[in-house]
Amino acid sequence: MITLKGIPASPGIAIGKALLFDSEELLVPRRSITEDQIPYEVLRFEEALIHTRHQILGIQRRLAEEMGQEHAEIFNAHLLVLEDQALREEILNGLKTQRLNVEVIFNEVIRRYLRAFARTEDEYLRDRTADIDDVRKRILRNLLGRHPDILAQLDEPVVVVAHDLSPSETALMHKRHVLAFVTDIGGRTGHTAIMAKSLAIPAVVGLEVATKRIIKDELVVVDGIHGEVVVDPEPDTIRRYEVEQRRIQEIDRQLLQLKDLPAETLDRRRVLLLANIELPDEIPSVIAHGAEGIGLYRTEFFYLNRSDLPSEEEQFQAYKTVAEQVAPHPVTIRTVDLGGDKFLSPLELPAEMNPFMGWRAIRFSLARPDIFRIQLRAILRASAYGNLKLMFPMISGIEELRRANEILNEVKQELTREGTPFSQNLEVGAMIEVPSAALTCDLLASEVRFFSIGTNDLIQYALAVDRVNEKIAYLYEPTHPAVLRLLKQIIEVGHGAGLWVGMCGEMAGEPALALLLLGMGLDQFSTSPVQVPLVKKVIRSVEYRVAQSIAQQVLTLRTGKEVEDCLLAHLRQLTPDLVE
Ligand code: PEP
Ligand code: MG
Repeated sequence: MITLKGIPASPGIAIGKALLFDSEELLVPRRSITEDQIPYEVLRFEEALIHTRHQILGIQRRLAEEMGQEHAEIFNAHLLVLEDQALREEILNGLKTQRLNVEVIFNEVIRRYLRAFARTEDEYLRDRTADIDDVRKRILRNLLGRHPDILAQLDEPVVVVAHDLSPSETALMHKRHVLAFVTDIGGRTGHTAIMAKSLAIPAVVGLEVATKRIIKDELVVVDGIHGEVVVDPEPDTIRRYEVEQRRIQEIDRQLLQLKDLPAETLDRRRVLLLANIELPDEIPSVIAHGAEGIGLYRTEFFYLNRSDLPSEEEQFQAYKTVAEQVAPHPVTIRTVDLGGDKFLSPLELPAEMNPFMGWRAIRFSLARPDIFRIQLRAILRASAYGNLKLMFPMISGIEELRRANEILNEVKQELTREGTPFSQNLEVGAMIEVPSAALTCDLLASEVRFFSIGTNDLIQYALAVDRVNEKIAYLYEPTHPAVLRLLKQIIEVGHGAGLWVGMCGEMAGEPALALLLLGMGLDQFSTSPVQVPLVKKVIRSVEYRVAQSIAQQVLTLRTGKEVEDCLLAHLRQLTPDLVE
């Protein structure tokens, strides 16, 4: 038995068999072949093509059933690659002239195609590069005997062990059978962790050696609260965790009884407690956990796992459904925040040295007004069907905000001319997640109706600590005095300007930190649905004036650790069940 220590990413305890998932670039072995072996290599290649074809047809069927024919057709481009005669001939030639195994030849030939496609002037062909690369990996995995869709095809409960999981892989996962995730890399507020929380699956990230220390089918215990993974546990350890699992279930059951009660302090200060979602199918969970609406609808997932761009109609339908299902409660839709750790297929963003500080979010939207306008039209049209709000991510200064608002106004005028209905008082807000925005929020205030603090990014930029790098995760401190000073300033300046101030970063969902934020005067908390009852419990356990004095006290402390200890001590007194 060994215990691996990582970063807790999504709470809960799971005990199950390990499934090793390898999403890293495949290593292609190289060996020489004789002339007699050429037909065998050709046969292996043909078999891999047939296998790949079956897999793609299977995915198409599933997508057609689950999401409609239109989505399934995206894979037609993949099928075309499999039928390409020129590709087959080049591979045959390569086998004859180079006498190497077919994986090597295939990889070389298809990489030549990829380079040619990537450089072509023809936009359509350029956009096909991602499809070809996807098929390349799929064929290679089949040649090498690996299963590309293993995560989507699970038929028994497993703990997924991966070096890393991209948001798109996480989204494809067969949720019913994934007991937990553990990964070598990543941080507490990376998108894999956020997805795990949305799916209510326990997760530990940043274990560094998980894929090296855990063997396929080995029994593991995942403790998503303490960030520990026990490999090959003793019977006693399993029993201890089973008891703990039951204790957590009991706490959850009790917390859920708060579902219909308001998020208000003992002395009746009411705040708004909302949930964050990535996909419309999380709404039942939002409602079940008693959130009073959606404070952050991340729209990036429309753009992942596909090779075309989402249409206005498709986005409109999704936003409308969410607005209608959550009405009369509010839904804040955030315009797309691609880039950072959310890469996408159809747009082929260039690889960057510093993606989190690069071409992402509002910077991307302003540079591609064609894509931005489509999203704004869809959001505005959906605003006629519920209580929608709109916010822009990664605002770093007033010019960006003005430009985004200008485009929004142009789109509104366009809709008015067409006679298309939309809400005339759609509230527009700015995410405050860049230190420059935090420090100039008095200037930004005149352009918007609300601020929503994105601490996942604000912390990484303020402390210069990459939010997904496990090696420096110990420095990623929401309680760092620098962070607290920024938060205080944003809330006070926002209130001074007559705005309401919310938070949709993960910090708002941590009980001890929620206590602090309450005392700082935050009006709206938005967090993963599963965290909502915990935060409600904290809010309902304290008087506002007590929370205010706790906030004042911690603002005088000198280190993040001191702040954390102080908050935990108060929380322990107020809600002993929540702190072990
Ligand atoms: C944030 O940065 O806090 C946030 C909510 O946005 P995201 O996690 O999507 O970057
Ligand atoms: Mg952010």
